[in-house]
Amino acid sequence: MSITVVNIKEPHNVFGGRRPGNRHPEWIKPGNYGWLGNPHPLGWCDICGRVHKREDAIAEHKKYLWARIQHEPDFRSALMALGNQRVACYCTPKSCHLGNIKDWQEAGCPVVAPQKP
Ligand SMILES: [Zn+2]
Ligand SMILES: [Zn+2]
Repeated sequence: MSITVVNIKEPHNVFGGRRPGNRHPEWIKPGNYGWLGNPHPLGWCDICGRVHKREDAIAEHKKYLWARIQHEPDFRSALMALGNQRVACYCTPKSCHLGNIKDWQEAGCPVVAPQKP
C-alpha cells in the first residue's frame, strides 16, 4: 500500500507541498497543513547554501526524510498512516519529493535506511 502522487490540480486527499513561506516543515505537527513539504526548495536553499536543481532537492529531501523517520516515531507513524491516499504537490508529472515517501512505503516502511552495498 502506497500513496499516489498527483498534481495539485487533480483530486487529492492530502496536500504534500510546502506551506507558502514556510521552509521548516519539521516545525509543523504531522497531519497539519504543509507537514509533508520539502524543506529544500528548487533554487537557492538556505539550509544547504547552494542552488538546488530538481533532482538535488529531491536527494536532499531523502536524507531529511530518513533522518526524521529514524528519530521521530510520531513522524514515521503519520507517514505510515498516509496509506494509499492521493497526495498532491506541484511537480507531477515531473519528479517530486513525495516519490521518496512512496519509495519508503513500498520498501515496507523501514526505520533505518538500507545500507548501500
Ligand atoms: Zn537544501
Ligand atoms: Zn513536489
